[in-house]
Amino acid sequence: KVKSPLEVYKFLPQTNCGECGYDTCMSFAAQIIDRNVKPTDCPPLVENAKKDKKFEKKLKELIALTSPEIAEVIIGVGDNAVKIGGEDVLHRHELTYFNPTAFFFDVWDTMDEAQIDERCSRVVEYRKFYVGDFITLEGIAVRCTSNDPEKFRKAVKKVAEYGKPMILVALNPECMRAALEEVADQRPLIYAATKDNWREFLELALEFKVPVTLRSKDLNTLKSMAKTFKESGVSDIVLDPVTEPVGEGLKATFERVVQLRRTAILGEDKDVAYPIMITPIAAWLIDGDEVTKGYWETVIAATFIVKYADVMIFRNLEQYTVMPSVILRYNIYTDPRTPVQVEPGLREINNPGPDDPVFITTNFALTYYTVESDLTSNNIKGWLLVLDTEGLGVEVSVAGGQFTAAKVKDLIKETGVEEKVNHRYLIIPGLAARLQGAIEDETGWTVLVGPMDSGRIKGWLEKQWPP
Ligand code: SF4
Repeated sequence: KVKSPLEVYKFLPQTNCGECGYDTCMSFAAQIIDRNVKPTDCPPLVENAKKDKKFEKKLKELIALTSPEIAEVIIGVGDNAVKIGGEDVLHRHELTYFNPTAFFFDVWDTMDEAQIDERCSRVVEYRKFYVGDFITLEGIAVRCTSNDPEKFRKAVKKVAEYGKPMILVALNPECMRAALEEVADQRPLIYAATKDNWREFLELALEFKVPVTLRSKDLNTLKSMAKTFKESGVSDIVLDPVTEPVGEGLKATFERVVQLRRTAILGEDKDVAYPIMITPIAAWLIDGDEVTKGYWETVIAATFIVKYADVMIFRNLEQYTVMPSVILRYNIYTDPRTPVQVEPGLREINNPGPDDPVFITTNFALTYYTVESDLTSNNIKGWLLVLDTEGLGVEVSVAGGQFTAAKVKDLIKETGVEEKVNHRYLIIPGLAARLQGAIEDETGWTVLVGPMDSGRIKGWLEKQWPP
């Protein structure tokens, strides 16, 4: 697999014609490496391939060299569709992870309509603001517990009204067929082909052109099913090595998942290079009350968000299960090549006036949003200077030289904050206290050292402002 733009560049026409929207073939090559474009987005490359076998071979080679190690599978259609898999590395720091683990929550066909509506609405409406983004949940898994094709069809139709990607869960091919007749155009993932029903599921996947999950604890069975499906023309495959919190326990599940992904990425064997399904909902097999089961769902989710799960099915929709899982996922799937940062500059908090305080913080997104939300939610009026520290937090940027008195002086000038306030007091974070003297010398402003934690600004201001 190619890892650098230079390697991709060798395959491109090298004319810098700009038809792809990039000024040079080298910029386009860099975008291919970052997965923002595909080789077929270069029109001359495609045209040449149509005319000449030699170029056709070259294009095919480039596609093979730049396609991810783990196949990418799309569930759903339109803006809500979710991509899973598509990973290239075992460890995030080797490059980045691309497609966050997709979270699906179950409903079942023996629920009444009101219950289905209630759960679907909770999935659709879930939004958590975190580091400047709204985290949402990806989809709904509809389980066939009735073993009745018509009941399952009806439930699936109801869930489809919510427009979310779906996983259809039924082992009975007749039930699955009824559901697919209703919603195949929504491109649901079907779950699951096993050693007992795989022939019928292979037919369904081919007929309705939908992605399919293969399920087995035995990795050789899983591999041989994947090979058969691929050779029969189904390449949108998800592997479920069976999540078992009881019986053999999570240790065995963990070992199966690691073996699958290591073989797919490091080994020559591409028969198992597909996204992996993990089912935290299996926690409901554990003895105990609902809260205990909910905790176990979080444990299973955490274990496999960290190690290679591409898609998960949950039951518990309470915050104590969902929140830790979505936050962990967010952090694991943050691109380590790009610091998480916001635009530097001046922010007005709660319509400030000329007598209101001026604060300064860094442009590390987590720091910025914490400070901004502490000020906003405490109804503090003020001016917030955001210093470009290359996306680093206060303590690290003070130590590393990204938060300096000279940069603070430049920021004050660039933002024109001097014209907006009629005082010359600047409140710096407690963690930047050692810069107090230097900033005063450089800017001529009086520097007040604020608290270490922006959550305490309100109490601090009550005592210190006006100075
Ligand atoms: Fe280069 Fe192709 Fe882009 Fe033209 S369209 S600049 S040939 S990559």
